[in-house]
Amino acid sequence: MEGRENGNDRAEKADMEVDVAIAGGGLAGLSLAVGLHHRGIDAYVFEKAPHLRMDSATGVSLAPNAMRALEGVKPGLSKQFEVIAMWTAVYHVVRYEDGSETRQLMPGEYSMAGWRFCQQVLANNVDNSKVLCNHRFLSYKTVQGGVEAQFLVKGENGEESDCIKVVRAKLLVGADGLWSRVRHIMVGDRPRYLNYLNWNALVYTPNGKVFNYNKGEVNMIHSRDERVVAYMSDIGRGYCLWLLRCLDTDGKLEKDFEERFSAGLDKRVSKQRALDMLKQMKGWDDLRAAIEATDHNLIYERRSMDRLPLDKWTDEGGHVLLIGDAAHGMYSGAGMGARTAFEDSDQLTVELEKAFKTSNIEKGIQDALHRFEFQRITRVCKIQRFASDMTEQECFQSEEARRLVAEQKAERFNEFTKWTCQYPFNMQGDVNSTWCKP
Ligand SMILES: Cc1cc2nc3c(=O)[nH]c(=O)nc-3n(C[C@H](O)[C@H](O)[C@H](O)COP(=O)(O)OP(=O)(O)OC[C@H]3O[C@@H](n4cnc5c(N)ncnc54)[C@H](O)[C@@H]3O)c2cc1C
Repeated sequence: MEGRENGNDRAEKADMEVDVAIAGGGLAGLSLAVGLHHRGIDAYVFEKAPHLRMDSATGVSLAPNAMRALEGVKPGLSKQFEVIAMWTAVYHVVRYEDGSETRQLMPGEYSMAGWRFCQQVLANNVDNSKVLCNHRFLSYKTVQGGVEAQFLVKGENGEESDCIKVVRAKLLVGADGLWSRVRHIMVGDRPRYLNYLNWNALVYTPNGKVFNYNKGEVNMIHSRDERVVAYMSDIGRGYCLWLLRCLDTDGKLEKDFEERFSAGLDKRVSKQRALDMLKQMKGWDDLRAAIEATDHNLIYERRSMDRLPLDKWTDEGGHVLLIGDAAHGMYSGAGMGARTAFEDSDQLTVELEKAFKTSNIEKGIQDALHRFEFQRITRVCKIQRFASDMTEQECFQSEEARRLVAEQKAERFNEFTKWTCQYPFNMQGDVNSTWCKP
């Protein structure tokens, strides 16, 4: 496979030697670094961007599994997340264009937070001297006792220099997101387009609102044919989040997106396209007003993508591991992406802490990765399958999901939420459920 050399290649002269090299400083990579630094493990984050990314216009749901995982990563971390979280009093006000709606009250332990605030909290907890930005992961090769990873280091002024840094590590963790280069080298596959185009923005409106919502309320609007779905929520700290998702079964939206993306994706055009999607549609006035009131520079246009489940997240030599979206990027409708990334970091931290205490660290790491994969893969495959079922498109759904009637879907959704929130208990499934059995 491109970029990988197997076997115990002769080691080059390394520029740096570390215990754990983490490629990618997103929610997965940073939370892992927080946990490892807290335990005194020598872990470095290598991030391709000039600064840690703080500008994603999304929010994440911080359900009890996320909070418990964060607390496992570092005691006290979940409290810091509670401060930035917006507690959800009424979740899922689902409305259709004809105005009919259903409401589901939540027990008060669910919250949402702006992605950027989550990233900021993690950045505040990491040892900054061990976060190296402007380092783009390129390739790795297995050497005696670990791997050598190559990074392209950009110059201070942002121009690419020819500088390649070779980093020798006992373990390389690919936390480089949906378009993971580490996964590309290890597995060779690509993200899958889910026939949805998304527009979303996080809008700061401390003195007012850009749409009608009540505090602690998450609003969803669906068209009856499910071709258009919108999401609007107060996300705390004076921010509103809106998201518009449109079905693209004939691929026209994607084709246009790709052409515009390669030409630099003009945000003015993105805003107009989002408004065009709602043209002549009745019952979407709140969202239309929100889009109109949003500065085009804040609007992100993206394709909805996921990753097919893998039955291994490690390479053959046991020195490279994938976590977060690199291992299991999934349809965002299930709200599980960040939550599973935090679970990964929690479990991996616990396992690596044991590994670094053994006398044979290399063997210790390999055993740790086996235990980690055993804990994580069955659970996350179930979650990935559930997320792709939520696309409501037969081509991505499991046989089981295609056959469900509305009440069964609701029951399955409730059981799934209950099961995932039991983390770290019943990792593989809930015996007391109908739809989420181990
Ligand atoms: C619209 C939308 C809504 C979402 N809603 C939710 C939600 O409600 N709940 C939820 O739990 N999740 C949600 N998610 C998903 C969640 O944001 C992701 O699952 C989560 O951020 C994954 O984190 P990650 O660190 O694996 O990947 P990323 O956040 O993508 O981080 C990857 C990092 O790696 C860096 N990188 C990439 N390539 C390289 C390279 N070659 N070398 C070095 N660095 C590299 C990137 O710059 C980036 O900083 C949503 C996502 C989207 C897009």
